[in-house]
Amino acid sequence: MDLLNTLVDKGLRRESPTREEALAVLATSDDDLLDVVAAAGKVRRHWFGRRVKLNYLVNLKSGLCPEDCSYCSQRLGSKAGILKYTWLKDDEASKAAAAGLAGGAKRVCLVASGRGPTDRDVDRVSQTIKAIKEQNEGVEVCACLGLLSDGQAERLREAGADAYNHNLNTSEATYGGITTTHTYADRVDTVNKAHAAGLSACSGLIAGMGESDEDLVDVVFSLRELDPDSVPVNFLIPFEGTPLAKEWHLTPQRCLRILAMVRFVCPDVEVRIAGGREVHLRTMQPLALHLANSIFLGDYLTSEGQAGKADLEMIADAGFEVEGTDQVTLPEHRTSGGCHEGGVCGTSADSTPSGNEPRTDLVAVRRRGAGTDVAPNA
Ligand code: SF4
Repeated sequence: MDLLNTLVDKGLRRESPTREEALAVLATSDDDLLDVVAAAGKVRRHWFGRRVKLNYLVNLKSGLCPEDCSYCSQRLGSKAGILKYTWLKDDEASKAAAAGLAGGAKRVCLVASGRGPTDRDVDRVSQTIKAIKEQNEGVEVCACLGLLSDGQAERLREAGADAYNHNLNTSEATYGGITTTHTYADRVDTVNKAHAAGLSACSGLIAGMGESDEDLVDVVFSLRELDPDSVPVNFLIPFEGTPLAKEWHLTPQRCLRILAMVRFVCPDVEVRIAGGREVHLRTMQPLALHLANSIFLGDYLTSEGQAGKADLEMIADAGFEVEGTDQVTLPEHRTSGGCHEGGVCGTSADSTPSGNEPRTDLVAVRRRGAGTDVAPNA
């Protein structure tokens, strides 16, 4: 297919596809799907080989959020029966992180619900970062605490944070329909603050919220402009008790096309399969490793993932390898500093369900790990 040859050539040169080309990837037929995966896989292997980076989530503070993000089980008014707890103590967070690292993760993502941290919260998380870094040589720590105020990114950086995550989630045009308590511009501002403080920026999206192909392409092109080092691609987990509980739009094939499109638009960036991997990709997860070079190990913030052991087996069976702490994730041109200077970098259990049925049976509220007395999944 001419389209795919063009996209591979551009991806190897870190050149942006056109919007029309990105839209065309999303519009490919199931008959062409393996060709799409193979083409985007060439770009993935060129920049990241067969390595898979494992990341581990520690939910420092769960639920009780005053914001109203419609997709989120922790939102204001959520009726989802999730774990709710306030800040984990340093030793609890360190213990949770250690389980993920022992399972093969190289990055720990410290996440807290809320609009954004107070200065006291930043102090608290700084202590946790220091404790985790002291106990685990070579670990990467990413903080995800919501909207940042002036100076907070710098303080996290000084405490040893390597990265800051704040997702754009959806296009600017649709943002107001998803969240009313903060704006798309607020989110962009926080990603820019993280960048300016020298933190590696991590910013991604959520697919499956009823958005159009154009919206998906818009948010991915916006991410390319923001130039994060990693782009998490979440597939909406339609939690019962949230406004988007009935939004079951995704199929495994659709998820693969979305990941391929993200890979073509952000060829040399860490593309991470995030929440919803097991729920929506299901048995197609190994194919997605040909597109993304990074996944979360174990459980998510408020839902359970497949067993950490199953993640490791899947990676090995698909012919990939877990990235070690002695291996650098990003291509050299991104780690040497030159890339960010120019702005855009480029460069039912009794029956077999059919592909399009909502798979509510696969959504399990997290009842283990951080904030519980039950052993974590890693
Ligand atoms: S996404 Fe974050 S800010 Fe929005 S409701 Fe959930 S925890 Fe709160």
